[in-house]
Amino acid sequence: MLPHEHTVVMKFGGSSLADTDKIRKVARLVAARHVAGENIVVVVSAQGKTTDGLMKMAHEVSPNPSKRELDMLLTVGERSSMALLSMAIADLGHQAISLTGSQCGIITNDNHFNARIIDVKPVRILDELDKGHIVIVAGFQGMSYKKEITTLGRGGSDTTAVALAAALDARWCEIYSDVDGVYTADPRIVDPFHLVELSYDEMMEMAYRGAKVLNFHAVEFARRRQITVYARATDGGRETMVRRPALELGRAVLAVAGADRLVGLVTTDLAQTAELLAKLSAHHAEIQYLLSRPDGSGVLVLNPVTAPDWRAAVPGHDRVEPLFSVSVIGRSIGFENAMFNEALRLAADCAAEVFCVEANPSHLTFYCRGETGAALTAAFHRAFVTPR
Ligand code: ADP
Ligand code: ASP
Ligand code: MG
Repeated sequence: MLPHEHTVVMKFGGSSLADTDKIRKVARLVAARHVAGENIVVVVSAQGKTTDGLMKMAHEVSPNPSKRELDMLLTVGERSSMALLSMAIADLGHQAISLTGSQCGIITNDNHFNARIIDVKPVRILDELDKGHIVIVAGFQGMSYKKEITTLGRGGSDTTAVALAAALDARWCEIYSDVDGVYTADPRIVDPFHLVELSYDEMMEMAYRGAKVLNFHAVEFARRRQITVYARATDGGRETMVRRPALELGRAVLAVAGADRLVGLVTTDLAQTAELLAKLSAHHAEIQYLLSRPDGSGVLVLNPVTAPDWRAAVPGHDRVEPLFSVSVIGRSIGFENAMFNEALRLAADCAAEVFCVEANPSHLTFYCRGETGAALTAAFHRAFVTPR
């Protein structure tokens, strides 16, 4: 095995593996890197929309499937990808082996469907790298300390990749998807600017507010362990580097995030808040914020990053509704009156039904009634974001 500074973790998302031609293309990319003299660990997601399909089937057989069984079901998607990629690489004359999350020593807590990694013991991966093999790992999954199979939340293969990069002391982690890096907004919604480099904090804020190009927990992990992450497209093009910033810069608007991502709004009697919070804790769902009103009522906002199944977390509660959120993200921006005024005017122009606004140094977030914030995203991007 080459020294660990020659180890690189490459993660390929569902769109990069959507059909067998794409799998063979990824196999060629990986093989070329192996030939170039690197120890290669590849993390794969389920193909295309496989995970959505499995979720749909689960809800067809039961409206409220057990999270343990959901985890058993969903991990199938990544297992299928890893075996197919391993076969495709072997066909190119390289030795590859596929391993599940539990075989790779990814130990999690027991929070099924949204588990957190608590330890990684990559003994098996090191053995295989030692033999000169390419190692293919099923992303998005681990094994709890109770020896149950768990999943890491939607988009969790990114977290597998960063966690393995940390455990293997790799040079960096490369995350490949259908977009060549991180942009100032979702390229599916506006025509944004490319971002060459981001700090961990900037990327975490974007991911928390809905920029799903990198998973929030993965970036959080990368920051904690100081792993440099490259976001790239499987088809080539540019890249974005996420790492510790070289220097602290002044005020700047960075990006717009959110668009069609829904957050949960729960209206409650304040006297029942303790009971509601206990219910949410039982689902490992954290609130984003709580607003208390003079009439004795309160509203709670639930973010899908910290409360992914917010609808299920408050069963039987009479006032749960979706809101969309659109955030302007940057440094030292949230308290600027001129920007705030302009944002309110733009929201009125878009006929957005604003429920409330959250202002912070790092973001200005509009929560609105309705299902999509595409128009507001475009308006905010046009008004506030400039190339950096
Ligand atoms: P994968 O399935 O490979 O994990 P994802 O679908 O999770 O890929 O992430 C890539 C998608 O993220 C892109 O197709 C893009 O629409 C979306 N996206 C949202 N916000 C941004 C942004 N600010 N920059 C780049 N892509 C973004
Ligand atoms: N397949 C899982 C999902 O669709 C995990 C991932 O793609 O990262 O959420
Ligand atoms: Mg993803």
